[in-house]
Amino acid sequence: MKQNLLNFNLKELEKIVIHNLNEPKFRAKQIFQWLYKKYTFNINNFSNISKSTKEKLNTKFEIKKPQIHHISYCEQDNAYKFLLKTEDEKFIESILMICNKRVTLCISCMIGCPLKCKFCATGNELKFIRNLEVSEIVGQFLEINKYLQKNKIKQKITNIVFMGMGEPLLNIENVTKTLEILTNNDAIGISKNKITISTAGIIQGLSEIINKFGIKLAVSLHFTTDKQRSNFMPINLKYPIKKLLEEIKKISLNKRDYITIEYLMLKNINDTLNHAKKLVQILSHLKVKINLIPYNPTKTLSVKTSTEQQLNLFAKYLRSKFIPVTVRRSKGQKIKGGCGQFVLSKENHENF
Ligand code: SAH
Repeated sequence: MKQNLLNFNLKELEKIVIHNLNEPKFRAKQIFQWLYKKYTFNINNFSNISKSTKEKLNTKFEIKKPQIHHISYCEQDNAYKFLLKTEDEKFIESILMICNKRVTLCISCMIGCPLKCKFCATGNELKFIRNLEVSEIVGQFLEINKYLQKNKIKQKITNIVFMGMGEPLLNIENVTKTLEILTNNDAIGISKNKITISTAGIIQGLSEIINKFGIKLAVSLHFTTDKQRSNFMPINLKYPIKKLLEEIKKISLNKRDYITIEYLMLKNINDTLNHAKKLVQILSHLKVKINLIPYNPTKTLSVKTSTEQQLNLFAKYLRSKFIPVTVRRSKGQKIKGGCGQFVLSKENHENF
């Protein structure tokens, strides 16, 4: 079976070039540039590589990435939602959010998710199928970038967030390679502080990957006690809050950097002033920004999102304690922007 060139980082490609193709090491960089700088996905068009080498490449390698299957656009949010189809005919989703000069692509790293957080559509309503390959993660960027160019949409993707379907820390090998491609200047070359990984709180490898790349971290904390968090997020039984926060403490932050704490606002469940106080208390030793997220209702959890008034009170309290707070407004809600909700509407044959 042919191997997919989009699955390799530069080091691996260099080994392939030397050992499989008997070519000098610098060919790897050339291939990398064809793929990620010139968006050329046909080996025959690698014009600075000899015909015989291209033939050798063609016999052992191919270039495959997920294809855009459907797009929906929400004018109110200026957000596009892409449904992409993998080679084995599974669906993944990516969302592009345009906000002035900032164009953020939210990508998936799994088909489904094994974590089963109770408020999440991906974990509860979709089956966990498998981890995505590097070519499928970086392929979301390549495919959507191609779409923007083709449709003469001037904006360029400036930021990447791993907040689509799946848990990045449970696909750490492929996410690491994807980060190597995203940040390498001979490849996509996005600056490290424009990339954010969001985790439900897997400790294994967390501080290492953030420190290695110097990228940003968002943690889906959502609750302030182990009892409540374990109830909604079973992963908390394995990695309780105290251990998670100790791990986050190991992350080295620059002067202006902070950790983003994501906090879902669930009416009468975690949104009282007492919860806000407890939140301030448990985060006191960390440099954080808190992102309050109104709950986007799913079929499997029938709780309400907090009222606007309660959300404002919560935010006001946090700010009074000098914690920066942002509130995630409806971005993507109209186009079923909650994690996994777009793939679901496809599976349920709803009209887009
Ligand atoms: N597995 C990673 C990234 C995927 S989810 C993580 O858990 O962080 C991205 C964010 O959307 C997480 O903060 C997640 O908790 C949140 N989310 C999931 N379901 C949601 C819903 N129904 N409404 C609002 N936010 C939701």
